[in-house]
Amino acid sequence: METISCDYIIVGAGSAGLASAQYAARAGLRTVVFDPLGPGGQVLQIFDLENYPGVFPAVTGSDFIDTMKKQAESFGARIVQAKIDSIDKIKNTFYVHTEIGEYSSFALLIATGAEHRMLGVPGEKELTGRGVSYCATCDGPFFRNKTVIVVGGGDSACTEALYLASISPHITLVHRKAQFRAQYAVVEKVKNDKNINVKYNTVVKEIRGNGRVQSVLLEDTETGDETDLPADAVFIFVGMKARTELFDTLPKDGAGYIVTNEKMETIVPGLYCAGDVRAKPFRQIVTAVSDGAIAAHEAAEYVKSISPSGDRA
Ligand code: NAP
Repeated sequence: METISCDYIIVGAGSAGLASAQYAARAGLRTVVFDPLGPGGQVLQIFDLENYPGVFPAVTGSDFIDTMKKQAESFGARIVQAKIDSIDKIKNTFYVHTEIGEYSSFALLIATGAEHRMLGVPGEKELTGRGVSYCATCDGPFFRNKTVIVVGGGDSACTEALYLASISPHITLVHRKAQFRAQYAVVEKVKNDKNINVKYNTVVKEIRGNGRVQSVLLEDTETGDETDLPADAVFIFVGMKARTELFDTLPKDGAGYIVTNEKMETIVPGLYCAGDVRAKPFRQIVTAVSDGAIAAHEAAEYVKSISPSGDRA
């Protein structure tokens, strides 16, 4: 089968990948973005995107991504829904083997994002999809006016608890510490939401149910007291895990995120990394988009440097 050649391949069509695609295509790079699930990534799970500068009033994550996709395509980027099986680099060229054929490029961006971690308690695996969920906007509507437990103390747990509290007045937010780590504005909203009951210093020991979630065994970490709290659903937001399967050999930080310099360069020439999969202090859409733009700019310079004549095929 013929190899389809381009200049810049982006692995992942979340906000980092789409922003990079827009900047790269606008800089004249023949740009192709791959994602097995189509455009969106984690942003699709956002019900109310209220903190992206310049976008006011809030929009849904889905509307935001739709605009990003159209904007990238308007400059000539191609967005392809397909899974990548493996990636090789031979001399100056990356070869990307996908389920729909082989593509090649001179620069490549890792924008694979991150996925939710599991809590790792008995009952979690068995009851996933039967009341245990990792996506409030996807599954929350199934639990309108039901009793719901949310686990975690970061931005995800707090923002998702707020969304679930707009659907049901019976939300319990369980956090293992005495203080949230989420952003101040979000924490204040949680504290002021009368539909959310917060249990601090509490951990989940077990999720119980016969075919569907029926209760959650909680332990107060200060007293050791255990409570079996009836519940119809448990939404778990205990952090993220970088998606790095295709890039095992690259250096990572202690938490498994790919290390770059400030130009988004990895240790491999022509290979960049952007967004939530990258080691960095603050994971937001706005920082993912910024990473993507920087990577595109650097990739454009790099492609020009290895092929100043423009004859890059
Ligand atoms: P996170 O910031 O890593 O927070 C994970 C939370 O889960 C922490 O509160 C942690 O507790 C708790 N946790 C971890 N393991 C646990 C366990 N085994 N049992 C009980 N609790 C556990 O993860 P995140 O909230 O998913 O956010 C990921 C990144 O995306 C962050 O950078 C965040 O700022 C960003 N984000 C931003 C927004 C927004 O701006 N609107 C929304 C979502 C996510 P401790 O606090 O005790 O460590």
